[in-house]
Amino acid sequence: MLGTLLIVSGPSGSGKTTLCRRAEAAGHTAYSISCTTRQPRPGEKDGVDYHFLTPDVFAAKVAAGEFLEHATVHGNSYGTLKADIIELLQQGKNVVMDIDVQGAASIRACDDAIIRRAYADVYIHVPSAELEARLRGRQTDSEEVIQLRLHNAAEEDARQGEYQYALISGDREADYSKFLALLAALAMRTQLA
Ligand code: 5GP
Repeated sequence: MLGTLLIVSGPSGSGKTTLCRRAEAAGHTAYSISCTTRQPRPGEKDGVDYHFLTPDVFAAKVAAGEFLEHATVHGNSYGTLKADIIELLQQGKNVVMDIDVQGAASIRACDDAIIRRAYADVYIHVPSAELEARLRGRQTDSEEVIQLRLHNAAEEDARQGEYQYALISGDREADYSKFLALLAALAMRTQLA
């Protein structure tokens, strides 16, 4: 039985990372650790939050075709290693990938048979005033970065229709319940047998 590959997108501040991490901590899913060229934020650890790579190492992996998808987000490179994902799916694990709309679009276009069978996607939508409050509340980003993220969020929201599912974000616990319900339903798909 193949695991489910659930792509989770939504703007920075949508809580998508928290949803993915919580489902993983509860044993429902395996989380795929992305590679990035951005600098670690305070408290972030290499190999836990991301594989933090230099631009040269990242470029070598792109050239070797090692990424399932890769994209530039906020001026930095991000990508997911294909071999990592396929191995987890073949072990029957459910994999959640927290990636942006560009990354989701490229995985949707992937012609690998295992990826296509396992694939599903959900967009986490946050009403704009709520999103701004969340971004300011976490106090990790400068005003310039907050404005850039709000601008990017509006662009990402416009592509919500590309996703199979939308989760309208409100209360944290309600969001998590809906997320688990979606994972449970996806695991019942006959195409995974
Ligand atoms: P942050 O730097 O705030 O952790 O993430 C910035 C953006 O990069 C987020 O929208 C996040 O979803 C996206 N991102 C994280 N990992 C990946 C990845 O592997 N591929 C792509 N395409 N985007 C990613």
